[in-house]
Amino acid sequence: MEPMATRYDVDVEEIAELLSSQPSYRSRQVFDALYSGLRSPNEMTNLPKDLREELEVALPLALREEAKQVTDDGETTKWAYGLEGGSAIETVLMSYKQRVTVCVSTQAGCAMACSFCATGQAGFTRQLTTGEIVEQVVRAGREASPRRVSNVVFMGMGEPMANYEPMMEAVRRINGAIGISARKVTISTVGIVPGIKKLTEDPLPVNLAVSLHSANDRRRDELVPINKRYPLGMLADACSDYVEATHRRLSFEWALIDGVNDTDRDIDELAAYARPLKAHVNVIPLNPTPGYLVRGSSRERVNEFVLALNEQDVTTTVRATRGREIAAACGQLAAPVSITKKVDQS
Ligand code: SAH
Repeated sequence: MEPMATRYDVDVEEIAELLSSQPSYRSRQVFDALYSGLRSPNEMTNLPKDLREELEVALPLALREEAKQVTDDGETTKWAYGLEGGSAIETVLMSYKQRVTVCVSTQAGCAMACSFCATGQAGFTRQLTTGEIVEQVVRAGREASPRRVSNVVFMGMGEPMANYEPMMEAVRRINGAIGISARKVTISTVGIVPGIKKLTEDPLPVNLAVSLHSANDRRRDELVPINKRYPLGMLADACSDYVEATHRRLSFEWALIDGVNDTDRDIDELAAYARPLKAHVNVIPLNPTPGYLVRGSSRERVNEFVLALNEQDVTTTVRATRGREIAAACGQLAAPVSITKKVDQS
């Protein structure tokens, strides 16, 4: 058998084609072992040994581990993976008492150019395939074992809605084949209105998070440049249709930046924007990135901001930061130059 596609890009029919000389139950057996069993072919001890070896070659992994860093007493792990063609991505695994969350990338780099985000500062390289997205979850799941991954957040590198079909096919496999509930999957978007509309039509009950960061068009244009194409009014309409059609709770992400989006006026603008949508606000204290020199708000200001919003009937919580020491926190994911170089030379 020749390598045909990567391990998590093929579907069960393609596995069946690969296994045409085998009994027909084999393809489903292999598919289930790859996804719900998180096993590689050479670990499928219920298959004949030569078949295991053949599958190992025919279904190669797509991601080459270039680096793995662990922090938070072993509770946070970040991988840097090299991809076919020389680009690189990062994936983060976070273990908590009640849940195990994987944060996946959907693109190598990002074209959205948000000024305060390290991925945006580095620019766009290429789209990920469905298999490259799914494999991040599988490999994190192997690391998490014997615990199982309970949540998947599409909050790594890239803009999920700008890679919509491969991203949603990955969600379907994460849900249908790996077995993670769609309600435990969150798609985060910078506010791509056509993507939100498509998600509204999709039967899978995933969660939607919108990276808002400002409820004022002038300021949001600067922080999140795609706001010029999909301004706040248009975004609110799409969010409102989404909430009405799906009855799911919407959340807004807001990285708190000192003097930029943490003023009393920001609180009022955000409250007025979020309240009619019954949105939950997730405040993220700004994480440092190389290309953005303004600091995050002080801890005191973060607390005041949260309190004031709650007083205005907007449920607001602070997202606990994980992995800052290894640049694994929100907005810090960027393929380190050393890895990109190494991959290019290979
Ligand atoms: N492109 C998608 C998915 C990325 S999610 C989106 O924008 O939603 C990553 C989250 O971290 C987004 O909410 C992003 O705005 C936020 N973020 C980016 N840079 C950050 C930083 N320096 N500190 C804290 N949060 C940041």
